[in-house]
Amino acid sequence: MTVIDENGTRHQVAPQVFEDLQARGLIWFDGQDHRIREGDTDMFLRVWLAVCDFCMARPVCWDADVASFTIADAMTFSDGHTGPYVSRGGWACCEACGALIAANDRDGLLNRHVSRAELGEAMRPILAVLHRRFWQHYRSIRRILPKLP
Ligand SMILES: [Zn+2]
Repeated sequence: MTVIDENGTRHQVAPQVFEDLQARGLIWFDGQDHRIREGDTDMFLRVWLAVCDFCMARPVCWDADVASFTIADAMTFSDGHTGPYVSRGGWACCEACGALIAANDRDGLLNRHVSRAELGEAMRPILAVLHRRFWQHYRSIRRILPKLP
């Protein structure tokens, strides 16, 4: 699908992305073309190119403000170097994970994360530690994509 912003820039959008943004009222039809506000194009790239830092779902609907913290003191990375693994800055959250955080439903968030982790229940002890550290450094959460009607 093609959408055109007010500067005339054409953006190619996957059908799923198009439907989601249209449902949220961010895309409209002017009788000839589908239109999006230029200011919303940054947002749709951000929310649809990113995945939830918890469960990897798209789109990203919430932005959690979290102080940087060390996840692991020593980790071997894919390039072979070893060092601390640090969470820097905010966490991107999908609709479901963000709503659980906003409701302070810590068990619900962990259960959702475990249920969507590739190794399932085997990951619970590791994810529980990660979540405990997340909540220790969590400050606030704000919605960045309008809620579906
Ligand atoms: Zn999520």
